[in-house]
Amino acid sequence: MTPTELRDYRSRDARFVPEHPMSVSVRVEGSLLGWVENISTRGMLLASEAQDIRVGEVLSELSVGWHGRNSSLPDATVVRLGRQAEAPGQLRLIHVACSFEEEPNEAFTDLRDAFRQSSYVTHELLKSVPGIGDSEPPREQDLREFEHSDTSRLLDKCAKFGGYMESLRATGLYQSLYRVTLTTPLDHRVSIYNPVTQREEDFVCFDSNSYLGLHIHPRVIEVTQKAVGEFGYGTPSAQLLSGTNRHLRELEETISRFHGRESTIVLSSGYAANVGAITALVGRHDFAVADQYSHTSVHDGCAWANPKQLRTYPHKDSDALREILERVASAKPQAGKLVVSDGVFSMHGSVADLPALREACDATGSTLMIDEAHSTGVLGPTGRGLEEVFDCEGAIDVLVGTFSKAPGTAGGYVSGDEELITYLRFFANSAMFSASLPAALCAGVNEAFKIMAEDSEPRERLWSNVKWLAPAIEDAGLSIPSPESPILTVFIGDTSLLWQVSRELYDRGVKCGNVCYPAVPPGEGILRISVNARHSRRDLERCVEALVEVGQKYDLLGRDMADLQALGERYRQEKGLSQAMG
Ligand code: PMP
Repeated sequence: MTPTELRDYRSRDARFVPEHPMSVSVRVEGSLLGWVENISTRGMLLASEAQDIRVGEVLSELSVGWHGRNSSLPDATVVRLGRQAEAPGQLRLIHVACSFEEEPNEAFTDLRDAFRQSSYVTHELLKSVPGIGDSEPPREQDLREFEHSDTSRLLDKCAKFGGYMESLRATGLYQSLYRVTLTTPLDHRVSIYNPVTQREEDFVCFDSNSYLGLHIHPRVIEVTQKAVGEFGYGTPSAQLLSGTNRHLRELEETISRFHGRESTIVLSSGYAANVGAITALVGRHDFAVADQYSHTSVHDGCAWANPKQLRTYPHKDSDALREILERVASAKPQAGKLVVSDGVFSMHGSVADLPALREACDATGSTLMIDEAHSTGVLGPTGRGLEEVFDCEGAIDVLVGTFSKAPGTAGGYVSGDEELITYLRFFANSAMFSASLPAALCAGVNEAFKIMAEDSEPRERLWSNVKWLAPAIEDAGLSIPSPESPILTVFIGDTSLLWQVSRELYDRGVKCGNVCYPAVPPGEGILRISVNARHSRRDLERCVEALVEVGQKYDLLGRDMADLQALGERYRQEKGLSQAMG
């Protein structure tokens, strides 16, 4: 079976498909009971069509049939039944957890070894089958290909995508790139559970947005815990109804003071803040335009607000932006115009030219919205973001932020004039029709903002780390632009090469971001190295050492971007991969 055939699987997991050569079937007294989904030390999880199984039932004369083998198993007791689920192959399945009464026998141990504790990786069995485990990376595909289906059956595209994911799993790439399971807090060093070796492994981590380490700051934890005790762990009502409390109000006031604004509205995420603000402000006859590299939530907001128009301008090109705005002003003089840009661009680490954007807006009567997600607490001597960097306080009309970066948790906000914020409380649907952020989180974020305002030491450590690491990477011979933020981007180019490089870094205990199309244009894949204040000099050195080793192995050192793209093309040809990227 080749990876191409794997991709055609109709099922999320071959083991669910009856009669499939890869299925592991379980029989009771010779009759089919179901298919093994997972195995632990003393039991197993089955997917079964049999609807009459009961908890407490003892299953005797059990046997498993697996890849041409048949073995008996000790008796097992059903300990848990899962909710009935619709499998992609249209089977009505129930999940049956059963526990063995005696020590498992050899057949069971064999089977478990093949499954390798697959609670985190569902297709380890496939990896152990000759011809699949050693397969090449799958054909690169534009993820958007999977959003469209040739048939009217909506779930078909999920099955097609599931097949693609299986081929990523079969190469082991999925396991090191996506949904790795941390067993420690997300910090400068982390432990990750490796489902293949069944061990926790240690990494230096350059994939956290907690730039100042506030998510584990003792003061933040203490006030959060206290507020949980007082207010419970949630505030399950919309803010306009009963979801407003002392902690939310204090937080809104703290953020307003931090940014020098009249008012602030807190939402459940930065995503919700962007979409909510844009869709509330931009009506059907208005116009919104965003930097092409802005965050997806900005693009989603613009697409939702005015679906039929051009919605982006080239990255940081304020002349092009101005032309667009002038065209709109002359064609539709009554249309309101909103310009949206990230302050720090999340995938490239570059910084928007705030004065140029303000000028373009002033010249054309447009409103300026800036997403300060990655700048708040980070940019400027006191962490006030772009306005502080460019010394133009009040230049942003609609200031958006998230709690998911420097403040270190979840949530988002919009700050601005009182009238703007009152309007958003009623017209930003993601606030109006969504539950309030839990009071305890509000209390914690409030403390985090106070620390950001009072204590510049973590910010200084952050920048000293950035200033050490960026030149060290450049001296090692890798292509890296001069750093404007803690997001350092090492250009690799070709996606397959990027995946391979990321995996090799992972194998050397370095976890960083792997950014490829559609997050960046095709063929412009980058390693995203997010530095934070908690990285030690040794962490930074380990990053450089791993980059040098992998750079040497793949001949990446001393090359410019064009050179790297040519190298990626050769890599792809040698591996026989197609150029399918859109
Ligand atoms: N804006 C930017 C620039 C971001 O990078 C992100 C998160 N990656 C968001 C908004 C969304 O924020 P949140 O995670 O709070 O939804």
